[in-house]
Amino acid sequence: MTYFKQELAARLTKQLFPPILFCMTTKKYPLAVIGGGAAGMMALLRATLNNDEVLFFPGHFGVRKKSREMWINRVENMPTFAEYKKGIADPNRKTLKWILDCEFKENVHHMKGLGVTKLKKNDDGTFTLVDNEGTEYLASYVILATGCMDVQPMIGGSHQAILPYANAQKVEYCARCDGHHTHKQHTVILGHGAGAASVASLLAERYRHPSMTILTNGEEPGWDDDRKIILEKYRIDVNKKKIKEIVGEPKKGDLQGFRFEDDSLVQATYAFISLGMILYNELALEVGAEVDDRGFVVTDKIGHTNIDGFYVAGDLRAGIKNQIYTAWDSAVDSADHINARLRETKRTLILNNPDY
Ligand SMILES: Cc1cc2nc3c(=O)[nH]c(=O)nc-3n(C[C@H](O)[C@H](O)[C@H](O)COP(=O)(O)OP(=O)(O)OC[C@H]3O[C@@H](n4cnc5c(N)ncnc54)[C@H](O)[C@@H]3O)c2cc1C
Repeated sequence: MTYFKQELAARLTKQLFPPILFCMTTKKYPLAVIGGGAAGMMALLRATLNNDEVLFFPGHFGVRKKSREMWINRVENMPTFAEYKKGIADPNRKTLKWILDCEFKENVHHMKGLGVTKLKKNDDGTFTLVDNEGTEYLASYVILATGCMDVQPMIGGSHQAILPYANAQKVEYCARCDGHHTHKQHTVILGHGAGAASVASLLAERYRHPSMTILTNGEEPGWDDDRKIILEKYRIDVNKKKIKEIVGEPKKGDLQGFRFEDDSLVQATYAFISLGMILYNELALEVGAEVDDRGFVVTDKIGHTNIDGFYVAGDLRAGIKNQIYTAWDSAVDSADHINARLRETKRTLILNNPDY
C-alpha cells in the first residue's frame, strides 16, 4: 500500500471507528513541515532532494489567506522575480508541481488544503500533530514555518479600508522590499512607535520625497529625542490626529491622501505601514519553545529551538531578516540539520548490524 493510500485509509478509519483504534494505526514520519510559504516550500524542496520522507502541511484556507505567502504581490528585490504577479504563491505552485513529479515523489506526503491545529511533544521524543480535520500524525522532527502578518491600521472603524490600496501596491509594509516605490512620491508612514520613525528616516536618506509625514492616527509618538532631532532635520512632519478616511479611488488603487476628523488633509500618493506584526507562534508555544519579548521563536543558527527536534524557519524565527531569501536559507539550514540527524541514526544502525 502506498503512503498516500495509508493516509486515506487512516482518515476513513478515523471517521468510521473510535479514536483509540485509529491511534494504533498511526505511522511515524521522519519529518513534518508546517507552512507552505517561502520557508515551508524551501524546507520541503531541500528535504525532498535529501531523499527524506516528508509530511507537508501548506495550511488550510483560513490560515493561508492571512499569511504573507498569499499577500505578497510583485517582488522586485530578487533577480527575475518581478515577472511573477504573486511573488511567493506563483513560484511555489511551480515548485510543488515539480516536487510532486520528481524522482523522490514517493517520499512526499502533500497534505493539500490542510493545516496543523495542535502540536505536542511526546515522552518518547516524537511529535503528535493534529490537522484541522482532527486527524493525528506522528513525526520525529518538525520544521515550523507559519510566518507572521502585518498589523493593519484602523481607519473609519475598519481594518478593511487600507486593503484595496495595499493590493495595488500603493500602501506597503517592507522598506527593504518596496521602499524604492516612494521615490519622488508624497509619502506617509502610518505608525507611532520607534520603528515607524526609523522607517521614515531610512526612506528619507535613500530617496527623494516632495513631502513625508508620519501619521500616528491618534496615538502619542513612541520614539526618543535623538530620533526626534533627525525627523526635524529631515523635515519629516508628525501628525497626531485621528484618521477619518482615505482619500482616493479604491477600485483603481489610486491613493491621494488621508483625511482627519477635523476635515484637514495630508496629501499622499504612497503610504508605508509600520504598526508591528501578528506572529503565528501558537504551535511553538504549545510545545514549550522559547520566544523573545516580541513573540519570535528563539533558535540557534540552524533554527533548532530549545525543544529537541523542533525547528523554526522563516519570518517566525527570531533574529533573521524577514525576507524570502532568508526564509529560504533558514529552511535549508534546518532541513539539512535534520537530514544529518536522520543519517546519523541510519549510520549507527548499519554499524551495529553485524549482518549488514
Ligand atoms: C507587503 C509585503 C511585501 C513583501 N515583499 C517582499 C519582497 O519583495 N521580497 C522579499 O524578499 N520579501 C518580501 N516580503 C517578506 C516575505 O513575504 C516574507 O519574508 C516571507 O513570506 C516569509 O516566509 P515564511 O515562509 O516565513 O512565511 P509565509 O510566506 O507567510 O508563509 C507562511 C505559511 O504558513 C502557513 N500556515 C500558517 N499557519 C499554519 C498552520 N497552522 N498549519 C499549516 N500551515 C500554516 C500559511 O498557509 C503559509 O503558507 C514582503 C512582505 C510583505 C508584508
